Amino acid sequence: LLRLLGPLQGLSNVRIDVMTALVSFERVFEVLDLPSTVVERADAVPLQFAAGSRGVRLELDHVGFAYPDPATTTLASLETVGGADRGRGSEPVLHDVTFVAEPGETVALVGPSGAGKTTITHLVARLYDVDRGTVRVAGHDVRAVTLDSLEDVVGYVTQDSHMFHDTIGANLRYARPDATDEQIWAALEAARIARLVRSLPQGLETVVGDRGYRLSGGERQRLAIARLLLKAPPLVVLDEATAHLDGESEQAVQEALATALDGRTSLVIAHRLSTVRSADQILVVDGGRIVEAGTHPELLARGGLYAQLHGTQLVDDTPVTR
Ligand code: ATP
Repeated sequence: LLRLLGPLQGLSNVRIDVMTALVSFERVFEVLDLPSTVVERADAVPLQFAAGSRGVRLELDHVGFAYPDPATTTLASLETVGGADRGRGSEPVLHDVTFVAEPGETVALVGPSGAGKTTITHLVARLYDVDRGTVRVAGHDVRAVTLDSLEDVVGYVTQDSHMFHDTIGANLRYARPDATDEQIWAALEAARIARLVRSLPQGLETVVGDRGYRLSGGERQRLAIARLLLKAPPLVVLDEATAHLDGESEQAVQEALATALDGRTSLVIAHRLSTVRSADQILVVDGGRIVEAGTHPELLARGGLYAQLHGTQLVDDTPVTR
């Protein structure tokens, strides 16, 4: 028996390595299809937050960041925990970014193209490590916690959230493998997409993707929101759609988002007037710095960059009343 157990134990270690690799692959794949440069610390601890809490505190404290220069980033440098001597060479894209989102608050990021809004969200999901300062979630430095536990806390929905070439059910269970059909339907209802799924001949078993049912932009977004609702993370990072969807889809997406963000801490790259109007705090990012911060009326009254962007960059999604 011992002779049998020896090789088996060896095999189970291999399995653990493969699983670890899969987990980190999935993490990056789920978030953005980006190669992540971060490495979990050997002494990383699971991120703790109050059970059942729907919001956690998010804090960026004097954060500075430059993307690693691909030409000088080597595997060996990636393995350096903390990234102190990672290959650098690119220009800094964030300078001294400081803000706090209290539990349950919505913070909207606005600013010109290339200002650094997406980069801020990358650092919150720890796709990269900061060069200066600290990102804290629920009071923990994100570099000190396990990647799995951080992934459980942060839900990320972008304009082109990834759906696998698989059934709708499988795409949703990906967020929560033990979800019952009942929970899946509840998430689909809340994300305003249940009616469509019910109308498909194969329902939850419908395969989506290029060779299956082709989802429209609004449908894909609502499925991504359903996946987020199943996962129920206390912190949501959202890149709002820039394009106008067709009327019905638009309204459905807005309703779905309102449900998804309700009571959760959220950081939203805002492209819509309705979002900034209702945000607890708007941060105006320009050239990698936060140049203005406040609420919609405060920033409008100030007559600065926000007031300019407000007229040109934000989609006016106010319902037309006749
Ligand atoms: P947009 O509204 O156009 O999406 P943004 O405000 O989100 O813009 P970022 O995407 O964060 O801006 O980009 C900030 C800066 O970082 C830009 O100069 C951009 O070229 C650079 N940048 C973004 N992603 C990378 C990357 N993966 N590697 C190197 N530089 C990058």
